[in-house]
Amino acid sequence: MAKLLDRISLVIIGSGASLFYYYLEKSMASNQSLGSFVTIALILIISLFTQLLINNINRSRQALSESNETLELKVIERTKELRESEIKYRTIFENSGAATLIIEKDMTISLANSVFVSFSGFSRGEIEFKKSFVDFLDEKSHRTILDGDGFLCIDKNLECKLIDKKLDQKDILITIAPIPGTDRSVASLTDISELKEAERQISHQAFHDTLTNLPNRSLFMEHLNMAIKRGKRRQDYHFAVLYLDIDRFKLVNDSLGHIVGDNLLTAFADRIQGSLRDIDTLARLGGDEFAILLEDIEEGNYGSMVAERLQEDLKRPFVVNGEEVYAPASFGVVDNTQDYGLPEDIIRDADSAMYHAKEKGRAQFKVFDKKLHEKALHLLQRETDLRKAIHKKEFVTHYQPIVSLKSRSIVGFEALIRWNHPQLGLIHPDSFISIAEETGLIIPITRLMVEEACHDLISWHERVKHIQKLTMNVNISSRHFLQPSLLKDIKEVLNKIDLPPDHLKLEITETALMEDVEDTVLLVQRMRDYGLQIVIDDFGTGYSSLSYLQRLPIDTLKVDRSFVSRIRNTPDGNRNIVEAIVSLAHRLDMIVVAEGVETLEQYTILLDMNCQFGQGYLFSKPLTKSKVDELIEETLSYSQKNPGQYYPLTSVLSN
Ligand code: C2E
Ligand code: MG
Ligand code: MG
Repeated sequence: MAKLLDRISLVIIGSGASLFYYYLEKSMASNQSLGSFVTIALILIISLFTQLLINNINRSRQALSESNETLELKVIERTKELRESEIKYRTIFENSGAATLIIEKDMTISLANSVFVSFSGFSRGEIEFKKSFVDFLDEKSHRTILDGDGFLCIDKNLECKLIDKKLDQKDILITIAPIPGTDRSVASLTDISELKEAERQISHQAFHDTLTNLPNRSLFMEHLNMAIKRGKRRQDYHFAVLYLDIDRFKLVNDSLGHIVGDNLLTAFADRIQGSLRDIDTLARLGGDEFAILLEDIEEGNYGSMVAERLQEDLKRPFVVNGEEVYAPASFGVVDNTQDYGLPEDIIRDADSAMYHAKEKGRAQFKVFDKKLHEKALHLLQRETDLRKAIHKKEFVTHYQPIVSLKSRSIVGFEALIRWNHPQLGLIHPDSFISIAEETGLIIPITRLMVEEACHDLISWHERVKHIQKLTMNVNISSRHFLQPSLLKDIKEVLNKIDLPPDHLKLEITETALMEDVEDTVLLVQRMRDYGLQIVIDDFGTGYSSLSYLQRLPIDTLKVDRSFVSRIRNTPDGNRNIVEAIVSLAHRLDMIVVAEGVETLEQYTILLDMNCQFGQGYLFSKPLTKSKVDELIEETLSYSQKNPGQYYPLTSVLSN
């Protein structure tokens, strides 16, 4: 059209110019009026303008078309760039490794990558614009993922649980970032289920016992701590703690082996667990020690009732590796827990109650009361004092003569230890030997005592050896007896002071010999081979039978004072029992010493029974070293005055 106009205007301008020239000449020649000339001039001017206009239009059109072309090129370029960028981002979105989602403002998922698709078990079609992000999370995760105003928490590593199509739960780590310039967000989800499982296993191992799979001490303490706190918050919440220890478990281990021991522990744990409610906690604290936390119970003696019931349950034997094994246990109970602030204090008291239950014998339980705690504190103080006493050599040995009943002369002594306490004065062994045993202090104490006693014996024996051979009896506690160091220590002492071993007699109680039968036989034999003599102390108070003792190379039986003190010449007097012991011992080639002879009647009856030796207040109380020195002097001067005669120990008897 513009071109057509252009041509028309050119024709008009051309013909206008020709006409203008024609009329100009004509008018000049004919001198006609200028009217037609002006008209033509006007037409010419208009035509010229038109031409100018058209030219302008043409130029603008050309410029427009050129810029159009550039624009089109740019659009193509941008579209290409955009497509490339989309491909790039889609590839990243798809292949980031993590499950990735685009989440709209209203939580709808508008885009999900294939990792998320396989992760969730839903198809893309079921997810995109169909599901809300929170549909995939459990209740607790909702609280994690949304802030107080219900918006997604941005830029954090949030641990959540994702529920897949099969309603299985996965542990995931979610990071959410806003998409700039939009109200959408991109969420990236990483499956950390394996990591969490490993973490769970590690923490399980840290808080559970591997053998029984029960909570261990740390976890139990944590439960106990929570129970204490709950008790402080709620008036109606009560709990109790039981501490239990299998009686003589060591015997099972030693006699049937560790595998049976382990199986017994597992069966034991199962039986106890089966007797408890789900909310109670049974834990293995180590070895054969267990603890129970009874929660949400009635106030009162619920713990003791449970202890009683469990002890009933434990009366049935366990069948372990085809063997019937009994596993009674001692229980310590803390029923009144409301005043406690620390779990360690409850455990300490339950343990101490259990310890007292053990002292009562097998399969007992004891409820903790404050007095037990005071007693425990007292024992602790004793232990500290005892350690100092060894250091400061506060022990003294007293010697009680052992006499031949026939001649009433001294044949030896029993060394009896005393503790010369700086504040409490002379303390007798019954008050400290058990603590010394428990703390292991008995070993250095015995060593000191044996050394002193043997040393003293040498000086006395040197003076009277022409009249009588003297021996020294020393008491060895049952826990110490089986220690391999004992014989070594004794040998060292005897070598050092040059005393032949046949002057030393070791007094042990029956229980010591019953501990570990096979080991005991070997040990006693080794002691005998070395030259020491073995004496059974307090005979009759333990469980052993003479037929059992026959297996051991024992030299002497000391009949316990409780039998001797009751012998009378009446049918109900203990005479028959003592007589039976004496004659059996003689048949087994053992010497008999009667302990605690106090009266003339006892003495004559014992003599009548052919009991060879005696010891007791009738002859002499335990004496200090200097008193024995005097006694030895008297013996010497008596024998000088009465050659060939022994010095009779009591004046009472000579009447
Ligand atoms: P044990 O070995 O049976 O010693 C005899 C105890 O009976 C001694 O008590 C002695 O003083 C006392 N006794 C002796 N004759 C009579 C009597 O006629 N009447 C009465 N009522 N008592 C008499 P002690 O010295 O208090 O010793 C008590 C126990 O302590 C001893 O009993 C012994 O088992 C233990 N013991 C003493 N010294 C030691 C020691 O050095 N080491 C160890 N491990 N235990 C010791
Ligand atoms: Mg003794
Ligand atoms: Mg005794």
